[in-house]
Amino acid sequence: MARKINLTDELKKYFGFNKFKGNQEAIINNLLDGKDTFVLMPTGGGKSLCYQLPSLLMEGTAIVISPLIALMKNQVDAMRNFSEEDGVAHFINSSLNKGAIDQVRSDILAGKTKLLYVAPESLTKEENVEFLRSVKISFYAVDEAHCISEWGHDFRPEYRRIRPIINEIGKAPLIALTATATPKVQHDIQKNLGMVDAQVFKSSFNRPNLYYEVRAKTANIDRDIIKFIKNNPEKSGIIYCLSRKKVEELAEILQANGINARPYHAGMDSLTRTKNQDDFLMEKVDVIVATIAFGMGIDKPDVRFVIHYDIPKSLEGYYQETGRAGRDGGEGQCITFYTNKDLQKLEKFMQGKPVAEQEIGKQLLLETAAYAESSVCRRKTLLHYFGEEYTEENCGNCDNCLNPKKQVEAQELLCAV
Ligand code: ADP
Ligand code: MG
Repeated sequence: MARKINLTDELKKYFGFNKFKGNQEAIINNLLDGKDTFVLMPTGGGKSLCYQLPSLLMEGTAIVISPLIALMKNQVDAMRNFSEEDGVAHFINSSLNKGAIDQVRSDILAGKTKLLYVAPESLTKEENVEFLRSVKISFYAVDEAHCISEWGHDFRPEYRRIRPIINEIGKAPLIALTATATPKVQHDIQKNLGMVDAQVFKSSFNRPNLYYEVRAKTANIDRDIIKFIKNNPEKSGIIYCLSRKKVEELAEILQANGINARPYHAGMDSLTRTKNQDDFLMEKVDVIVATIAFGMGIDKPDVRFVIHYDIPKSLEGYYQETGRAGRDGGEGQCITFYTNKDLQKLEKFMQGKPVAEQEIGKQLLLETAAYAESSVCRRKTLLHYFGEEYTEENCGNCDNCLNPKKQVEAQELLCAV
């Protein structure tokens, strides 16, 4: 549809960028047309802009539902940098006191606020619903929309209440965004948000600069990792372990071997944890050994390797975690250590959870094991998992393409016996 405004000019004016990335412009146009919009875009693709820019151009206040309180504040600060008006963006979550909430409300009612970030548990609070009913809403954005699905990597039951609450507050166009692109998750989100007819914008999830390798996990794994790091001196890397205990053990072993490594997991005191993270971001530390608690929202462009000490819980998780390597487009080595013995260990971890959750967990784990054991191109398998077809014969950047397993020979040998 022809518009009076030139979107590229608006982009430049508000955000200082010269052009849109990927599908951004098409997505924004769809939303400005008042249509429901579904966005599948890898991390770092620029999803936020898809609701930030339209919020500034449309009448009323956009409601952004986002799960992470820490990221909310960052986003609001960033928006305020782009605007003259301090009240242009606000957030409501459990960290705000009564006075702060009153300020937010008065800015909204004065028409200053274009973008309001709300945590799902705050959105469902009666007093907030009541207040929002009196507000002119331009559209709703559901960020990290995979939180709706039990098949996603971060299921949050509150996310299931978003649609009914929106109906209570008042209808407006809806945009849902996620970097989780498995067909199951996509289907869950669209169904649950009542947007099966939404226009879907899906970007490619291929990361050509990432090298994927699966290695046999043996009793020598610590030595293998030390060797790998010593062969990659001064490079930034993340090592993911399943348990907090392993995180601490391995960090100590690496330190004892002269490697500048630090642990990170949710059980550590928050001061040390934050310090370790900051030191890693500031390049004072080369290697962070962590549970998957580490990484959400961390944007270090030059992480050169991601090692999985234990098999990831799902291919989705594997993709997200390995995706933290090579954000700048440079080298990113993704090495996973695998033994099928670990499967039992992981299944044990799931015991005690509700049966339905265990079933989902087992299914996801089996898919990961199949990936690890496969001799097919890693990239092809991974992209297929996201419903994307990769047609190159040889990706040239995974172990299976660079060193094809000689399956035929092995089979011939078996026959000869
Ligand atoms: P996502 O939510 O998809 O992971 P973000 O919204 O956090 O990605 O954006 C990632 C980075 O890309 C941010 O630093 C953002 O400022 C930048 N970015 C977004 N759109 C553009 C653009 N059109 N041109 C240049 N940089 C952009
Ligand atoms: Mg985002």
